[in-house]
Amino acid sequence: MSTPETTAERQPPTWRLLLGYVRPHRGALLLGALLSLVTGATGLALPLVARELIDDLSHDRTITWALLLMSALVVGNAALGAVGSYVLRRTAESVVLGARRALSSYLLRLRITAVDRSEPGDLMARITSDTTLLREVTTDTLVGLGTGGLTLVATVVLMGLVDPVLLLVTLGVIVGAGVVFGVIVPRINRASRAAQDAVGAMGASLERILGALRTVKASGAEHREEETIHAAAEESWRQSVRAAKWSAAAGNTAGLAMQIAFITVLAVGGARVATGAIDVGTLVAFLLYVFYLMSPIQQVVGAVTQYQTGAAALARIQEALRLPAEPAARPAPLPSSDAAPAALAFDEVRFRYADDLPYVHHGVTFDVPARGMTAFVGPSGAGKTTVFSLIERFYDPEAGRITVDGRDVAEWDLSRLRSAIGYVEQDAPVLSGTLRDNLLLGNPRADEAEVGRVLKTTRLDGLVAKLPQGLETLVGHRGTKLSGGERQRVAIARALLRRPRLLLLDEATSQLDAVNEAALRDTVADVARTTTVLVVAHRLSTVTMADRIVVMDAGRVRAVGTHRELVAADPLYAELAATQFLATAG
Ligand code: ADP
Ligand code: MG
Repeated sequence: MSTPETTAERQPPTWRLLLGYVRPHRGALLLGALLSLVTGATGLALPLVARELIDDLSHDRTITWALLLMSALVVGNAALGAVGSYVLRRTAESVVLGARRALSSYLLRLRITAVDRSEPGDLMARITSDTTLLREVTTDTLVGLGTGGLTLVATVVLMGLVDPVLLLVTLGVIVGAGVVFGVIVPRINRASRAAQDAVGAMGASLERILGALRTVKASGAEHREEETIHAAAEESWRQSVRAAKWSAAAGNTAGLAMQIAFITVLAVGGARVATGAIDVGTLVAFLLYVFYLMSPIQQVVGAVTQYQTGAAALARIQEALRLPAEPAARPAPLPSSDAAPAALAFDEVRFRYADDLPYVHHGVTFDVPARGMTAFVGPSGAGKTTVFSLIERFYDPEAGRITVDGRDVAEWDLSRLRSAIGYVEQDAPVLSGTLRDNLLLGNPRADEAEVGRVLKTTRLDGLVAKLPQGLETLVGHRGTKLSGGERQRVAIARALLRRPRLLLLDEATSQLDAVNEAALRDTVADVARTTTVLVVAHRLSTVTMADRIVVMDAGRVRAVGTHRELVAADPLYAELAATQFLATAG
């Protein structure tokens, strides 16, 4: 659904993924299972111990000693049981933690292409909700399968020793039940998968709506959105109920199979007693074993049905782990203040966002020397923002080369490349948190003096002084407590604090008032003296300031030159300039 590119592929079995998460904790898991086994066995032995003690009573020993010993045994057993279940539960939680860590690290490395095609809310559900289901899988499935399986094998071996013929009869019934399970188990799996996909869909809807609650309210769309979310929640309920129905059927089939085995063994065994093949004692012993078989079989069936929920969750986790991601980065190097400005070149770059989408760049070529300011202008949809996305390597071109300092960006260490760049996006994203968090996002080590300087150049000092909590003010989800112009200045300040060798500024139209705009223009001009600045410009005032202007149209570079040259040489540019660029937001 939200990850179409992975669902079609054949995936390796999910248990392999599970074992990968369990492996680091196998010692603890074994210990927990062992303790549980011992507790169970000791619990069974307690009546025997009691008998011994009571027998001893008649032999003149003091009753106090006997009771004390009994109590010690009971308490010891309970303590052992508690430790055992604690160890198991703790191990299961560690498995969940391992999966959450692996998955969240992976999702932070996702390629932007993968994010373009996914629902963030669904991915979030895979980290938060699907991983939770690994808890039960670890304890119930692995331990249940281990202990139940062992007991089962031991019992079957003993039954074979008592009477192989009756064992065959019993196994026949079990195989029959197995066929029924073969039908039921995939249904549990499918229903569980659908239930968890519905939880993912619910997360996706919630994320979409809470991310734009103002728009939803302003559009009066609450009721419709409410219905979407409720529908997803109800779908999850419906599918979980279906899974529960089939699990119940599986459990009771196991019970029924054992009853049938009991009756069949009674009939066949009776006949064998009549012909003298076995004696009555053997039949009785065998029937007792059939009875003993019940509990391990229930345990194994429980483990297998329980695993279906986990397997569905594991499949969803596995899909997320197969989305295209960037190589694991070393922690990004912190910006240094003395780095030289970067030179940049596009050489016949061809690019489209996906194989089934039209080309956005049809062979884009331009050169930007180190230092100075280059403006990109052109109608909306010309491919200007895409130039910046390609420089950041959010996407890779299909053909052609992009070089920074003469080196193909594909050969750069990704974190090193990005640490050289300060990027102010078109819609100036601000993260929830404090103003300080936002400013220091790209350079956590910037000192107060530097922050103060940048606040001044971006004209944020006035705002900060006005706020009672200053830099510690919370800006709200996506910075909703700031005005559009303030958000943009925060984004610029953040980029400047990165001390970029290359500043990418995707100018938003009409976000800044005239005074702040003029000030920022001065700042950018100042920065351009020591840094390479690329600006997607919509204002004539910005454009005329540039050292060179790249005119883009429909995925091609039409012309490069100064304002004066282009007004004379390029009709599109002349027209854009005449309308002050303002109509060409994009
Ligand atoms: P500009 O910044 O010049 O207005 P863009 O570079 O943002 O243009 O976009 C160029 C074209 O690419 C547009 O037609 C736009 O619809 C398309 N586009 C932009 N981003 C994506 C994306 N993530 N996935 C698919 N198409 C995109
Ligand atoms: Mg744009």
